[in-house]
Amino acid sequence: MKQRLVILGGGESGAGTAVLGLLQGYDVFVSDKGKIADKYKAILDEYKVAYEEEQHTEEKILNADLVMKSPGIPEKAEIVKHLRAKAVKIVSEIEFASWYTDAQIIGITGANGKTTTTALTYHIMKEGGLNVGLGGNIGKSFAMQVATEKYDYYVLEISSFQLDDIEKFRPNIAILTNITPDHLDRYNYELQNYVAAKYAISKYQTENDVFIYCSDDEITMQNIDKYPTSAKKIPFSYETEYAEGAYVKDETIHINIKNNPFTMSIQELGIRGRHNVYNSMAAGIVANIYGLRKEQIRESLMNFKSLEHRLESVTKIRGVEFINDSKATNVNSTWYALESTSKPIIWIAGGVDKGNDYTVLEQLVKKKVRAMICLGIDNTKLHAAFSKHVDIVVNCTNMRDAVRMAYQLGNPGDAVLLSPACASFDLFQNYEDRGKKFKDAVIQL
Ligand code: ADP
Repeated sequence: MKQRLVILGGGESGAGTAVLGLLQGYDVFVSDKGKIADKYKAILDEYKVAYEEEQHTEEKILNADLVMKSPGIPEKAEIVKHLRAKAVKIVSEIEFASWYTDAQIIGITGANGKTTTTALTYHIMKEGGLNVGLGGNIGKSFAMQVATEKYDYYVLEISSFQLDDIEKFRPNIAILTNITPDHLDRYNYELQNYVAAKYAISKYQTENDVFIYCSDDEITMQNIDKYPTSAKKIPFSYETEYAEGAYVKDETIHINIKNNPFTMSIQELGIRGRHNVYNSMAAGIVANIYGLRKEQIRESLMNFKSLEHRLESVTKIRGVEFINDSKATNVNSTWYALESTSKPIIWIAGGVDKGNDYTVLEQLVKKKVRAMICLGIDNTKLHAAFSKHVDIVVNCTNMRDAVRMAYQLGNPGDAVLLSPACASFDLFQNYEDRGKKFKDAVIQL
């Protein structure tokens, strides 16, 4: 008898798991409470996978031997509660897919910098000639690649939601970029639950594996001894020099792995800002562990371009630079945006506040922000936090007005920075929509 695999959620990870499950001989059924996008229906039809949408039919779900729950589905969903009550095994897509590959896995998690560090690590490894796939929260699902492609290495961006449902998933190399409060609505508003989810990335690692972490990050360091791992730990830091690890000294990155030092000036990095120095150190450690040629690593770190919506320089108009950092949906990422912008700033911020504490931004705002445009339905918290530090604070409720206003307020040599520190759902579909509308409005000036 075939094992019954039920997949909750028919999106990228659901469709990928369905194909992999089918090829591995499971009896597969996909169920989505919402609509399944045409793109994924086409895949399910192609492989003749049974599915339903806009409903969860319990008789077809509770009889599962194994359930893959897509990362977007919260624990409090009724169907998940019923499965838990019946003690049906529930795993995430990365757990499931990892059972069917012997490839080396580089798993990258953290509150901020996951996508950048993942894309950068992939870029260096690919340019270094390795047969490497890129997946997880970026692009194609890991499961689909395991099903239909054959890579020797996978660089995976891994969210805490994917880590919630693992039972033995173990990356050969794990990177924890940093931890700041985020997504707490999914973790009963307990930071410790979120921390535990992040640290799960190293839980099942063995002594042959490596765990790379930022030793300057307060919450990472407060917890590192609470979540033991057998992996070899390799730190990166701005402040502390390591015999084994990475650090910055005199504006130069030093990476020491296996007594084989690598150095590079931070001026040469393709992506700017202190946060990107961290991301580059983390990716550089991986490249050095795999013994890639130093010249090639340097070259790849130099020619890597910033990703869309992450401190993306859009254009300059009459000396005013426009920077799209729409992906900054929490205070910590906005801190780095303000910190790494050297020009006087016209700052566009706001949206859905996820319980932000703005005090950490105060010093930078006082020093660098000339004017502030609050772009959200409810801007009271922003006004309360910043009106005393910024002379000009105005409200806008759409992007065109915000960009026009910013342009009027800007002098040559200023930067207009969209770095909202908030989620986008009050006025936009998502952060990409917000970033695109920003760029459109800039082009129309
Ligand atoms: P994630 O995938 O974790 O959301 P991204 O690479 O997409 O991370 O970056 C999200 C936001 O955080 C962007 O605004 C980016 O400029 C900023 N950022 C990138 N790397 C870091 C880091 N190491 N620390 C803090 N902020 C960062």
